[in-house]
Amino acid sequence: MSRKPSALIIYTGGTIGMVKDSLTGSLMPVNFERLKANIPEIEKLDIDLDIHTFSTTIDSSNMQISDWIRLVEIIEENYAKYDGFVILHGSDTMAYTASALSFMLENLSKPVILTGSQLPIGVLRTDAKENFITALEIAVWKEAGLSKISDVCIYFEYHLLKGNRTSKISSSHFNAFESTNFPAIAEAGVQISFNETIIKKPSSKPTLFHKNLDPNIAILKIFPGMTSQYVKAILSIPGLKAVVLETFGSGNAPTQEWFLEALRDAIAQGICIVNITQCSSGSVLQGKYKTSIELERLGIVSGYDMTTEASVTKLMFLIANCNSIAEVKQQFSRPLCEELTLLNWN
Ligand code: ASP
Repeated sequence: MSRKPSALIIYTGGTIGMVKDSLTGSLMPVNFERLKANIPEIEKLDIDLDIHTFSTTIDSSNMQISDWIRLVEIIEENYAKYDGFVILHGSDTMAYTASALSFMLENLSKPVILTGSQLPIGVLRTDAKENFITALEIAVWKEAGLSKISDVCIYFEYHLLKGNRTSKISSSHFNAFESTNFPAIAEAGVQISFNETIIKKPSSKPTLFHKNLDPNIAILKIFPGMTSQYVKAILSIPGLKAVVLETFGSGNAPTQEWFLEALRDAIAQGICIVNITQCSSGSVLQGKYKTSIELERLGIVSGYDMTTEASVTKLMFLIANCNSIAEVKQQFSRPLCEELTLLNWN
């Protein structure tokens, strides 16, 4: 007799399970039992479900590196036991967690699906039920005995998106996430239709669970009129190892000497600087304009079409796991788990 499919739900917190605090009126997370009471439908799913709840459920604005490591540990401890994993998570930092996990969980052969909601599950117009139920269905979906999805994904408002390609784009629409540089992996309508051409096949190699990340990263978002004090303050953070330089358009930045000098000094001190666009779609093309050729000459590494979320977490991962800054730079500019598209533009 074939056994029922099984999934482990990891409940970290987020709006999905929040209720209004009677004193302040602010939303705060509650335990899984209260969440579950609002979704009797999950009992009807033909899935063996177990729950792992974080000891303290959190608003995802409080997500820390230690929480990502905990998630990896929980998945590692339970990897053999379940067909798939659904992480209930606040939407605010969901794209960061999904990106971090995509680097920390290497050679997946099972799905890790993050979901949550914009309205709490107890609210009449909630988006939580559809998100949660479809995420569970996808997490146990198999074909020819193998998991249909073997990737870290975000399921939200009828779309299954590649985790390390996704950003939160709306705080008010149910359709809160977008992966502008990568097509949706699946769309849920009357049926769930998978985009077969981009689905990652389950890895046949042993899954590796990486637990080291280095927090010594900064984001330097440039803007017209920024001062040298602003740039220098960021680049002189004690212990800083890598910087995500968020540039204009296709990777362009001011060519004023004080700015280039500040970048040159940081690089000379062994800080790795990577170039990511502030645009929500498209790619960095270093050298296309005169305003980016100098960045290329300085040894700033192109992040191509990577999201800020993927760039930050990839640097945390590489700094902690590579032997030298040269290796970090070399690994950063190549895709590790489809988080970037290499583009030869000239
Ligand atoms: N502040 C909430 C969180 O990220 C928002 C949400 O869940 O949608 O936990």
